[in-house]
Amino acid sequence: MSIPLPDLEERTGIHQVIAGKARLSKQQALDIFHNAPLFTLGKWATQVANRIHGEKIRTYVIDRNINYTNVCSATCTFCAFKRKAGDHDAYTLDAEQIHQKIDQLLAIGGTQILLQGGMNPQLPLPYYTQLLSSIQTKYPQVHIHAFSPPEFVEFVAVLDIPGFPTTAAGKSHTLPEEIWLKKLDHILKTFKEAGLNSIPGGGAEMFAQHVRKRIGQGKATTEQWLTVMSQAHKIGLSTSATMMFGHLESIEDRIDHMLLFRDAQDTALQQHYPGKYHAFIAWPYQPENTPLGKLPQYDPESDEPFPGENLDHPLNGKMLRLAGATDYLRTQALSRLLLDNIHSIGSSWVTMGPHIGQTALAFGASDMGSVMMEENVVSSAGTTYALNEQLICHLIRDAGFIPAQRDNDYNILQTHDTDRAPDLQVKDWSTMRIKALHHQTDAPSSCHESQEAVEPTALTIEGQ
Ligand code: SF4
Repeated sequence: MSIPLPDLEERTGIHQVIAGKARLSKQQALDIFHNAPLFTLGKWATQVANRIHGEKIRTYVIDRNINYTNVCSATCTFCAFKRKAGDHDAYTLDAEQIHQKIDQLLAIGGTQILLQGGMNPQLPLPYYTQLLSSIQTKYPQVHIHAFSPPEFVEFVAVLDIPGFPTTAAGKSHTLPEEIWLKKLDHILKTFKEAGLNSIPGGGAEMFAQHVRKRIGQGKATTEQWLTVMSQAHKIGLSTSATMMFGHLESIEDRIDHMLLFRDAQDTALQQHYPGKYHAFIAWPYQPENTPLGKLPQYDPESDEPFPGENLDHPLNGKMLRLAGATDYLRTQALSRLLLDNIHSIGSSWVTMGPHIGQTALAFGASDMGSVMMEENVVSSAGTTYALNEQLICHLIRDAGFIPAQRDNDYNILQTHDTDRAPDLQVKDWSTMRIKALHHQTDAPSSCHESQEAVEPTALTIEGQ
């Protein structure tokens, strides 16, 4: 970071980017990542967030992450959540169990569910359609944000639908491309008709092929992942974009990943698709309890460059570079500068902790995500934090903003600018100290881990 700042500003045209009059190229993004002082990068990202969202309000949502099954046909090396059918702790929730969870969500003012599972090849089409329509009928006010692209790819493989072939689990790529696309389109439309409102961005992880083949065996390829979302946009389903970083990838891989989203969003906007990406959320990989976590870790103090930066290095793909707080903040700030066509950048307090999550609001994030009602995926990999509505509002206000509850489409439902705000009702914060809400679990993390929403069973607030 020894390059004079004016030189960096000039060659990246950053002030034009901040003003929304130019775009960063890949090389400029790399230059900024490596050479911008951390707080300058945060200031630039904040200026973009202020241009898009104004300077006063930062948002959160109340939803519930419901992992309907942990049975999965894939073998992701970063996952501690999946089980094989027949394992003693394998489960699949039925509609009644899911309805009970929604009742609990409504009791705390929630507005949406994030429904994701492993890729369970044994569940038939009616499981999904009846579940969706039962939720839509019983809870018409609840937004159903459900089934990530890898699940849809598996649906194409295994769901028995008249007029379409099936394949073995994980083998949808063996279908002719035209049939694959038609079956996907049919499933998306059927699910939408049954009640699906939008699609979460789980399972993107890292698009770079040399990384993806090492971390996500048996699940959606990059092209399949992006195709599911593009087809969803065409029929009016909006989606979110995600990235899990801080493992095998280079910084260039992260930037390429984000640029694929920027390109896909350009297409959605230029073609006037009725759906698009609403948000981008990136979070660092959590290594505990995962096979990938057994790899040796790169020492950032080392004089040696990280092998993941060099495809020809013998240790490329065999050594982890975990992301700490500053790497996380730098990456998130860069995402705000790069993704000029995506409305919201979400903070990842679930993995980074409430205070870094709060700090992320000064690095381009405009949204604190969800209160934590339930989270089974990241917690499986060791680290989760839980926040209730009072605390999430407190963190936003303490960072200098007015907290506002939003819906899935980022419409503001309530702005907490009066003394009736949830955080301003708390008389005794000693019963709600954040440290009492930290969880270090021995439980199993997954693809379908999402920082978009987080469950009341995990909400263990002292005194409540
Ligand atoms: S990350 Fe998701 S797709 Fe991969 S093994 Fe785990 S549950 Fe399955």
